[in-house]
Amino acid sequence: MNIQNYINGQFTDPISNEWLDNYCPSDGEVYGKIPNSSIEDVEIAYQSAKSAFGLWSQTTLEERSRILLKISELIEDNLQELAEAESQDNGKPISLAKAVDIPRAASNFRFFAHAITQFFSESHESVGQNAMNYTLRQPIGVVGCISPWNLPLYLFTWKIAPALAAGNCVVAKPSEVTPLSAYLLGDICNKAGLPKGVLNIVHGSGTTTGQAIVEHPGIKAISFTGGTKTGAEIAKIAAPMFKKLSLEMGGKNPNIIFADCDYDDMLNTTVKSSFSNQGQICLCCSRIFVEASIYNKFKTDFIEKVKELKVGHPSEDSTQIGALVSKAHLKKVMGYIEIAENEGGKILCGGNKVTVKNFENGYYLEPTVIEVTNNECRINQDEVFGPVVTIMPFYSEDEALSLANQTKYGLSATIWTNNLKRTMRMTQQIQAGIIWVNTWMMRDLRTPFGGIKGSGMGREGGFEALRFFTEQKNVCIKY
Ligand code: NAP
Repeated sequence: MNIQNYINGQFTDPISNEWLDNYCPSDGEVYGKIPNSSIEDVEIAYQSAKSAFGLWSQTTLEERSRILLKISELIEDNLQELAEAESQDNGKPISLAKAVDIPRAASNFRFFAHAITQFFSESHESVGQNAMNYTLRQPIGVVGCISPWNLPLYLFTWKIAPALAAGNCVVAKPSEVTPLSAYLLGDICNKAGLPKGVLNIVHGSGTTTGQAIVEHPGIKAISFTGGTKTGAEIAKIAAPMFKKLSLEMGGKNPNIIFADCDYDDMLNTTVKSSFSNQGQICLCCSRIFVEASIYNKFKTDFIEKVKELKVGHPSEDSTQIGALVSKAHLKKVMGYIEIAENEGGKILCGGNKVTVKNFENGYYLEPTVIEVTNNECRINQDEVFGPVVTIMPFYSEDEALSLANQTKYGLSATIWTNNLKRTMRMTQQIQAGIIWVNTWMMRDLRTPFGGIKGSGMGREGGFEALRFFTEQKNVCIKY
């Protein structure tokens, strides 16, 4: 299936007529082409967004909200088609796309359709000076949204929905590896009555199309989710242009398990936090630290559960682990397993490529658990972003804390304990933007989402996203 850019409400080929192959991770075959959009395509998308801005920014909140709700409904109506597209493009189990990715894309639009009607700004009376200040929050203009391949429509819409709700027009680029669901979104936006040019979707490689968006002088804000290295490249270009930047980047999240936790709940959730979406979620906990007194029991029970996980074709309902996103990514992940072994890590289960019958060229890998003895090895310091976790014992709360923080990343952390005082101590000291206690990936869209250190700059979610996508102005009236 060949896909096209969505510019000014229409589907168009790239001006250069340059195309990229789109691979299906579950069988390794090319199944379509995507535009490799150039600076010229981005310019046309920008001009169309700029022309639409006057009208869209003046559209009443009720009307904007109504259109966003309609997009949300249409995503739900097309759940099956979108989930199939996501699963085919990304290799994730269709059951996951149906239960998580697509419903969440619909929720993103629904949430911001409502949030914009409740958004407010501050006022400050300057007592004794006969003056009133208020904060005017205005849409920025044309903004750029760049998203990764791991949760394609989920993260694409997580940016687009608040940008549009706040009255901006958007030039957006999904990952070249997973463009299909974003392509289908264009048609949904037309059916929902989104005015032409308000959302423009350009496909292509990061270094061509993505960079053209970042470098465009008229695009005043960039919301990016992806790797830390890419985030740094984007910041280098955007900073001297004084663009507003939101960077959501990589993670190396700790899962800290104390002996006093609810064991069964912890065990079942730890399997999910390790291997959901083939471990390709920025929030997956790839470093598992277990209190020494339950370490051996945990090791036995965890490995037993991990061995039960079914690796298979993503379209089968029974599949729990699908294919990794690309051949290059599979190679990278397998390379890390080798590095871990060379550094003295012991593979407790997994570590091998899986051959799925009739899909021998697909990118399948066994869920892998590696026992390590120090936290400084590369497998514990670099983001692998695949179905690979390490386990290691700890002997005190202080040690657990220092292991958790000993990384350049700071996205999320999970703690398993029933000790309230310890919970309070640990949550205050762990260096991460999101901390889950006795759960994982439980999301309330009103909360601020993002990381610290090498994991992020700025926050998404709730009113934070609407603040990012608006410029504030102080108005002082003397009376
Ligand atoms: P990536 O390689 O950094 O790419 C992310 C997006 O940026 C893609 O659309 C990519 O296009 C584009 N891009 C690449 N180089 C660019 C450049 N120089 N200028 C502008 N855009 C550019 O990341 P990924 O491999 O797709 O995703 C995995 C990473 O995302 C992991 O590190 C993961 O932790 C992170 N992530 C973070 C969060 C979070 O919320 N913190 C959520 C999900 C994922 P192409 O795909 O065409 O190269």
